[in-house]
Amino acid sequence: MSAILNAATYPPTLTEEETANLAIALRDWSLSQGLIIRAPTESNAADEASMHVPLTLHPSPFPKNLFDQALGLQTVFNELYAKVADDYEFLTEITKELAGVDDFMSDLWKLYLEVDEISGGVPAQPLTLGLFRSDYLLHTTSTAEPSIRQVELNTISASFGGLSSRAADCHRFLRKSGLYGTAAGSEFLKDENMPVNPSARGLARGLGVAHNAYGVKDSIVLFVVQQRERNAFDQRWLEYYLLEDFGVVSVRASLEDIAEFGELDSITKELRYKGRHVAVVYYRAGYTPTDYTSPATWEARKKMELSKAIKCPSLATHFAGAKKVQQVLIDELVLAKFVPDADVRGQLRTTFVDILPLDDSELGKKARTLIETCPEKYVLKPQREGGGNNVYREKIPGYLKALKDETLWRGYILMELIEPPQDVRNAIIRAGKVTEGNVISELGVFGCVLWDSKSHEIKQNFEAGWLLRTKFADSEEGGVAAGFGSIDSVLLI
Ligand code: ADP
Ligand code: MG
Repeated sequence: MSAILNAATYPPTLTEEETANLAIALRDWSLSQGLIIRAPTESNAADEASMHVPLTLHPSPFPKNLFDQALGLQTVFNELYAKVADDYEFLTEITKELAGVDDFMSDLWKLYLEVDEISGGVPAQPLTLGLFRSDYLLHTTSTAEPSIRQVELNTISASFGGLSSRAADCHRFLRKSGLYGTAAGSEFLKDENMPVNPSARGLARGLGVAHNAYGVKDSIVLFVVQQRERNAFDQRWLEYYLLEDFGVVSVRASLEDIAEFGELDSITKELRYKGRHVAVVYYRAGYTPTDYTSPATWEARKKMELSKAIKCPSLATHFAGAKKVQQVLIDELVLAKFVPDADVRGQLRTTFVDILPLDDSELGKKARTLIETCPEKYVLKPQREGGGNNVYREKIPGYLKALKDETLWRGYILMELIEPPQDVRNAIIRAGKVTEGNVISELGVFGCVLWDSKSHEIKQNFEAGWLLRTKFADSEEGGVAAGFGSIDSVLLI
């Protein structure tokens, strides 16, 4: 394999003493510079204590041309998903597919319809903010050059933009300090191959731009967060840059808090939280059914959706991030509806792998055959976010058969497995402990888009930095907070 550095050449071999020094330097830099996560909730000092985020010791190699390609595609994906979110008929079709098989998605859509009806079809706020993240794995075959393939596109609660900037800074610091040594392979670790990552400021800019568009001085950005969120510092960095760069204050609140202290003015449609005028609602919770602990939390979401605060994302945009939507967009004719330019469509399609429905259509029948004949090439996904929900390879047929009823299959998509390079090595430090192994890295690209859902005019659209997450090759999921993976940065080659 040509364009990737393999285990024979990178990372440079360190002595035991060098590794120990590197690990200490990395840990202390992380703790002092806010590359941290809250200690596990079961610990006594859960609110007060924090620990360094799981991080790779070295930046992982990533081909520069593919990195540039992924960054370059982001504004196109931003626009595509904004258009999908604005297409009521299209989303209605999707919800029909999921009706009766996915309660959460159905509940979200019911809320959308209810809000639409109460507002008489005229939303209190036509502007929507998307802070998206498109995720990619490298795909390699024995014959072709490596390429990037999209894993998914997140339209709600896309995380790690705050910490990801720090991770790149940390690796840059370690290099400058000479802690990567001089063994073979260290020559790749050059300043120009280790880009600065603007994701924290980039996402804060998205929120700042939306706040400006709302146009009310001294109004706030409301961060809707999970109670006892361990990844709070990732969110804090956006809050701090929003204040520093835009002079905008943020307030954190859970759905439960908003149920209690959020108020909607029935005439002006202003949203107030503890008396403060809310310009932008930024959801870092509410993407998973377990966030809705009571009917009051659904009421809280409804209150926000009915208000004239700009939502990041709106209900329709949240819905557009469903994996079912990603599957339907694989169809050339469907994609053409949203992306009329064939060249642009071609650029998007080079990042797609096949995704099939599990319904009664011809494609659905094909999917059933594939599950029987070559399940080892596929991953099965429900309409969920947040990691740990997928079913892999040979486990798929048994899993599906164990479902109580075959109609429930429609709630899943069947996705071809992307095949990342297998001979990349790195070490991950987690809670101070260093473990080496073969690794797989997933690149995420952040994008901000602010648009008018009524006129369909795009007001702002920009790429906003990146994230590299790295996991051991033998682990199937990549969640950092969930304990599967680590944050990383890119070494461009
Ligand atoms: P989630 O919403 O839970 O993040 P993802 O679609 O991102 O769901 O899947 C979780 C993880 O599973 C990914 O981070 C990746 O490691 C792995 N994965 C998902 N789809 C594929 C695929 N097509 N090929 C290989 N790995 C995949
Ligand atoms: Mg994911």
